[in-house]
Order: sequence, then C-alpha cells, then structure tokens
Amino acid sequence: MLPSVSVLFVEDSGVEKNRILEALKRHFTIEIHALASTTDEFHELLTGRHWDMVVSEEYLSKTDAFEILDIINASGREIPVFVFSAYSDVRGAVECVRRGAADFRTKDDIAGLMESVSGALSRKKVRREDYEEYERELLTDMIEESRDLIFLIDEKSLRFRYVNRAVIEKTEYSFGELRGMTPVDLVRNLSAEVLRERLTGVSEGEQDKIVLFTEIVSKTGKVHQSEATVQLVYRKNENLFYARLEDLSEKIRTHENAMRMMQVVEHSTSGIFVTEKDGTVTYANPKLHRQTGFGEKDIIGQNIKIIKNIIEDSEEYDRIWATVLSGRRWAGRTKSITKDGGQVEVLSFVSPIRNSKGEITNLAFFDEDATLANEMKMQLIHAQKMETLGELAGGIAHDFNNVLTAIGGFASVISRKLKDRKDLSYLADKLVELSESGRALTQGLLGYSRKQEQEYRIIELERTVRKVTDIISLVFPEDIVIDVEMNSGGARIRAVESQIEQILLNLANNARDAMPDGGLLTVASSKSPSGKSVLIRIGDTGTGMPADVLANIFKPFFTTKSEGKGTGLGLAIVKDLMDANSGKIVCDSILGHGTVFTLEFPFVDIDEISCAAATSDSLVKLKGSVVVIDDDPGVREGIETMLEEFGYRAVSFDGYPSMYNKLEHLGEVSLAVIDMVLADSGSVIAAEALLEKYGNLPIIYMTGYDDESLKGKGIGSEGKIILRKPVFAYSLLKAIAEAASEKSVSGG
Ligand code: ADP
Ligand code: MG
Repeated sequence: MLPSVSVLFVEDSGVEKNRILEALKRHFTIEIHALASTTDEFHELLTGRHWDMVVSEEYLSKTDAFEILDIINASGREIPVFVFSAYSDVRGAVECVRRGAADFRTKDDIAGLMESVSGALSRKKVRREDYEEYERELLTDMIEESRDLIFLIDEKSLRFRYVNRAVIEKTEYSFGELRGMTPVDLVRNLSAEVLRERLTGVSEGEQDKIVLFTEIVSKTGKVHQSEATVQLVYRKNENLFYARLEDLSEKIRTHENAMRMMQVVEHSTSGIFVTEKDGTVTYANPKLHRQTGFGEKDIIGQNIKIIKNIIEDSEEYDRIWATVLSGRRWAGRTKSITKDGGQVEVLSFVSPIRNSKGEITNLAFFDEDATLANEMKMQLIHAQKMETLGELAGGIAHDFNNVLTAIGGFASVISRKLKDRKDLSYLADKLVELSESGRALTQGLLGYSRKQEQEYRIIELERTVRKVTDIISLVFPEDIVIDVEMNSGGARIRAVESQIEQILLNLANNARDAMPDGGLLTVASSKSPSGKSVLIRIGDTGTGMPADVLANIFKPFFTTKSEGKGTGLGLAIVKDLMDANSGKIVCDSILGHGTVFTLEFPFVDIDEISCAAATSDSLVKLKGSVVVIDDDPGVREGIETMLEEFGYRAVSFDGYPSMYNKLEHLGEVSLAVIDMVLADSGSVIAAEALLEKYGNLPIIYMTGYDDESLKGKGIGSEGKIILRKPVFAYSLLKAIAEAASEKSVSGG
C-alpha cells in the first residue's frame, strides 16, 4: 500500500498541476490536493488544514515561490516545499534553498522531482518513528530501573496497576501478589478510610500532589521508612494515582551512625581536632578544650598554629602534612600550646579524612596526654621488675628452706641438751623461733612468687602478729619504738598465714616510711565490741595523710613516694589479701599526727577449733628403727639428731642406691621418713623396696614444695602423710603420731 499524502499546489495552469499530480500518484495515494494561484488563496489553504507537502512554480502571475516560502517560514510549520521552474535559473534556485525549499527542479525533470519528494517524505517519517520509540524506551527504563519505589494505583479500587522492579525487591512480594494488593496491605498502620481521606485533595484536583511519610512492611516483616509523593494521572478512560516512594532507611541509618560517632568523639579521652588542608581548624572536641584551655571561639576558624607549636617544629609539620596528604597516618610527639602561654607534650596520631569521592579533604588529630602514657609505661616496667624479682626470690627461698631446716633442727637439739643451763637454752630456743620466722618469710616468698592458691588453716592470730613484730623489731631503725599489746585472748581465725604476714609487713613498712625521723609503732589486738571478731590495730605517729591521698591509698599504683621508693602496690595487695581472708580494713589518718589501720577478722567457730586441737604432740613409742632418706646432708643430720633426742633409733641414707646396699642388714624397721623429691627421683623405688620388705610400714614424706608444684612434677600428695620442710621437732613428732595411729605400729 502506498503512503498517503496531502499536497498543496501553487500554480497558474491546471495543466501543469495535473501533470505533476499524475506523476505523484504513481508513488503515493493522494489523500487530498488543492490549487492556489494567489498569495491570499495560499495563505487561506495553508492555515485551513495539515499539508504534507507544497509544490510551487517559481514565478506566477500573482505571486512567486519566494513569497510562498516566506509565508510558510512565518507560520512555523515544517512543510517541505518543492519548487519547479520553466528554465534553469541558478540564482533563483540558490535563493529558494536559502529560504528553506526542499528542492528546486526544472519542469522537464519530473522524475528528479519525484525522487526528491519521496526521499524527503520517507526520511521525515522514519525519523519521527525512531524518536518516539526511543523516547518510550527511555521512559520505561527510567521507571523500571528507578531506585525509588514507583506505583500506579487505580483511583477507584486503589489496587496496584503497575509497580516497578524496586517495589518487588523491597517488598519481597511477586508482581502477581502485588497486583491484588492495595497500599493498605503494604503500609504500616494505614486503613482504607484514612488513605481515601488523604487522597481526596489530589483526586479532586485541589492539590497537584501530596507528600506523606510511610512505613512499608515487607513480606518478611522488614520495615522501610519512606517518603511518598502521590499525584493524579489523567488517562482517556480512567484516572490513576502515580506514587513515588523514596526509601529513607539508608539515610536515617547513616544519620544515626553519624550521631553515634559524634558522641564517641565528643566523649573521647583523647583531644581531637580537625583541620582543613590549609591548617584551618574546623572542629575540636571538649577534651581538647580542656587540654589546651582554649574555648571553641578561640580555636574554630583559626590556623592550627594557635594550638600547636608549628613554628619551632616546622619541619616536623611539613612531614606530618606530606604523610597525611599522601594517605598515610602519622604518629609521634607534638607540643600543644595552652591558653596561659605554656606548652604540653602530647602523643599525636594524625589521620587523613576523605570525602565521598575518596579525596583527602581534612586532617584529624588525636592527642593523648604524654605524661599519662609515660607514667603507665614506668609503672609497667616497675611491676615487671617486681615480678622478675619475685621469681628469683622464689628460687632462692626453696634452697633457703633446707638451710633453715638444719639450723632449726640443731638448735632444738641444743636447747634440749642445755635444759639445765636456762641462760643458754633460752638462746637456742630463740634460734628455733627465728628459723621458724625465716620459714614464714620464705614460704611467703614462695607463695607470692608462684601466686598459687594457698592453704586456709585455723591460725592463732596473735602468734602470727608476734612473728611479724619480732622480725620488724630486728630490721626497723632503732629510732622507731615498737609497742605490742595483745588482748584478743588467743583468738583464732581461718586464714592463709603467709598472707596475713604479708598484710602486716606491708602496713608496717608504710608506717616506717611515714616516720623518717623515728616515732612510735603500735600493734594491738583486741576483741571487737560485738565479740564476734578480732581487731588488729597498726598505728604510727608519722606524717599522716591529707584527704585526697587517703581517698586513693588502696588504688593500685597510687603512691606519693619518689621513684624507686614506692610502687603504689603495697596497700592494693593488702586490700586484695584482706578480701581473700574474709577481713575488713579501714584507715584513719590525721595530717601531721599519724595514721591507724584497723583490720577486722571474724572468729572461727568452736567446733573447728576442737577438731584442730585433737592432734596432740604426745610421744609415740616405736620398736624398730626409723629409716631417713634425704639427699641434703644438713636435713638428714638434723632429723637424725632430733629423732635420737626423742629416743628413736635413726638410720639415714642419701638416696635409694645407698639404702639398697644396706637393706639386708637393717634389722627391724618401724617407720620411714623419705624426701619426696630426691635428686635421683628414687623416692618411689625406695618406698617400694621398704614396703616390700617390711609390709605395712608407715612412711612420712618430707617436702619443701607446695602441692601445686608437686602436681607439676607428677607427684600426688593425697593419702600420704606429709611433713613440710623445714622440719621442726613438734611437727616431726606430730607426723610420727599420725603415721603410727594410721598403721597402728606403735610399740605400746
Ligand atoms: P607505696 O608504699 O609504694 O607508696 P602503698 O600502696 O603501700 O604504696 O601506699 C600508698 C600511699 O599511701 C603511700 O604512697 C602513702 O602516701 C600513703 N600511705 C600509706 N600508709 C601510710 C602511712 N602509714 N602514713 C602515711 N601515708 C601512708
Ligand atoms: Mg607501701
């Protein structure tokens, strides 16, 4: 089928018109055609309807093609005009084309005219179709791919007619499901009535659009906060609401995150400030204001040199800028200027801040107090030094225990031998007592250095206090007078004795430090007014403390003493150990007059005491001899001597091999005392050999180690009779009594 066109002719002669018309009919269906011979006729026909083309003669009797072209141009219509002429008029042709003619031909060139007519008309048509399709695709894509949620809603039923892809993604409903739904099914807390009411303004044409805040609930219950814009779209036979929803969740989340970050920055203990690349300060947090003394007005908008000494350290600041602007972080010491004209050294961390395009736009400074950091470092080093010392001391303490065993052993023998010489036996007794004190110390060191759980026992508190005061009276300067008053009537408490000793020693040391020019140290015990606990008071006549010191004394690392003298750990440990032993501690102090620490421990109840007292020191008789095995000659000799003193026969060996050699000649044996951890680890074999020969032989195991260390060596202490080193006469006798009663080997 031929394309149909409407043609307007401008011509004097109908003959010419018909000739061209016939030629056109071979290419087009002529919808309508008309003929104008004057300017006025042409104008009237032109404005009367739409024309696809105009065919005009160059020169007519009452008008010409130039006038025709001018009229068309003035009307704003885009109609192709084909001009033909009686002769080849080059000047006229140029003039026509200049005025917008589609072509210029001579009358005999009908074929050429036809070619350009069909070319011009088809080109125009194709271009128009192309454009419309492109436009439609663009619009569809824009709506379909939009990140906003787009709905077309039927005005009457309020059902969704169209939704874009974003709606399907966000709501998690399928297109099919959504087509049956209305906004009421998607929006939280929205009823049909309310929706209608809100839409009346738009549907009655009073408002172009309305904007609502809505919360869309997805199929799985996810809530999307969004802002909805609703408009009415008029169609031929129906009206639709066009609703566009922008998801605000992301925006809200970003905003909330930013608010939180802001709070972190505002409350940070580091001084934080931000500068532009040119050094202008744009933000400073409250801590920075405190660090420098400058207020917001002093700093914001000013150059960084207001708060940093960049004049003196200009090279350093060049480095900071170069590092940070290259995207890296800078850390080091810088000097902050304070409002009063001073300077403080701080540890600075400087980071680049980037905008959303990733470009570095600002610098952020994080300033830490350097003095605080230094102090922490010194304390750490000191604590570490203490720990190393503790470990060393632990090692020495173990060997020292053996030495003390020997000293104590010999001294108790001397004391017995010199029973008639009271002046001398008194001194020997003192030796026994002192080696016992030494044991307490070494045990304490062992306990402290290994940090192991120690055994809670029922102890007579006053005895422990005495032990400590005896030691300190030996080592404290002579200008400190020590006054001890015991009035608790032998009260017993449940505690780890070495820990109580440590508490008392730490308090005594502090009292000594508080009395550099001498004074009086009072240690007193009494029953509490309620009668349920025992109080120990340790008072000095030293410097005393101001309230701000008193409030902090139990804090770890709090000290007023010079470096190397105080660790600030003494009272922290005291507090810890008081808690561990169910005690309470309070401190009273008057500046310039002295300090009193009061310790309170609850009594243990009577049943526990009677239980503990049941093991008596009564002497057991043994028929056979006692075999002693220990690789330390001092210990061996000490025990041997003690046993003989109490009337037992002792045979001692330095280990399993030497005992094995004599085994056949041992004769009757009633008891063995064996070092648990012999150097050659022969304890077990030795015990087995003895048990094989003597059947039900009771064995006492000696050890200088605590249970924890023994376990570490793979030796269990359960069910064994354990005799702790250093061995004292009374503890040896007690162990013998225990062994004998268990195995009932006593000779009556
Ligand atoms: P250190 O003795 O290493 O300083 P402490 O924890 O033992 O640490 O004591 C903390 C601080 O408490 C001391 O530095 C001192 O200021 C104060 N203090 C403790 N005991 C006394 C006391 N008896 N008299 C005065 N001040 C004391
Ligand atoms: Mg101290």
